[in-house]
Amino acid sequence: GLPVLAVVGRPNVGKSTLVNRILGRREAVVQDVPGVTRDRVTYPAEWAGRNFTLVDTGGWEVDVAGIDARVAEQAEVAVRMADAVLFVVDATVGPTDTDERVVKLLRRSGKPVVLAANKVDSPMQESDAATLWALGLGEPYAVSALHGRGSGEVLDAAMKVL
Ligand code: GDP
Ligand code: MG
Repeated sequence: GLPVLAVVGRPNVGKSTLVNRILGRREAVVQDVPGVTRDRVTYPAEWAGRNFTLVDTGGWEVDVAGIDARVAEQAEVAVRMADAVLFVVDATVGPTDTDERVVKLLRRSGKPVVLAANKVDSPMQESDAATLWALGLGEPYAVSALHGRGSGEVLDAAMKVL
């Protein structure tokens, strides 16, 4: 079948917004508050002439106490089915404990990972993205899924490892 690119990360970091950006249409459900959606939604996608399967993840309830485990669990399932992972972090928040936990499981998986530092809506926020070098996943690609800024670069990087 087609190669699979899974989009993982904490709730509200902009995964579904980025998925819509990749699809070029509004299909993935974007929510202001992390809510209950399906755990994984699969879309046929195309970038730079390559066809692949894009997986949006989510599906956690608004249960702050359990959210860390839930994110890790979801990421684990998505990573297992993926050939490469697009890990989305909110650059305006910086790396959280949950992000660190996901990084550990990504590393264990041995799958290639491209790091999207999302919500970098302006050049002034580029330095926020740079703090994500600390995650040890290589270059953090500064992206604004909302405005489209940098989304081409991060996708080009993902296609190289997919
Ligand atoms: P998900 O839970 O990770 O799928 O996140 P969503 O895509 O549902 O987005 C969560 C919230 O963040 C929504 O209000 C989005 O409009 C907002 N958001 C997503 N990407 C960006 C971005 O690049 N910049 C800003 N400022 N907000 C964003
Ligand atoms: Mg979502």
